[in-house]
Amino acid sequence: MKEKTTYICEFCGKEYENKDDAAECESMHAKKTNLDFEFHYASADTDHTGLPDYLILKHNDKEYRYERKLVDIKDKPKEKEKDKEKDKDKDKGKDKDKGKG
Ligand SMILES: [Zn+2]
Repeated sequence: MKEKTTYICEFCGKEYENKDDAAECESMHAKKTNLDFEFHYASADTDHTGLPDYLILKHNDKEYRYERKLVDIKDKPKEKEKDKEKDKDKDKGKDKDKGKG
């Protein structure tokens, strides 16, 4: 019987057979200490959280925009079904034959 060892990157979870490759993956990921974020806030008239509305990350001469996304952790299937019914009404007014010709 052979035993197989895998090495897992602590940051992204990718598995490697070679320890050095896993270490290289870990060193490749940008860390909190060397990230340059620029904070942008929405007006306090509309946002009372105090949290930035979006972040601009400058990395290797490029800029990345990170948007805040509000996620409802509790699953509410009943409300989702209501939304589907609304979508059905939208479809009623559309022509089904669109797209051909
Ligand atoms: Zn990784």
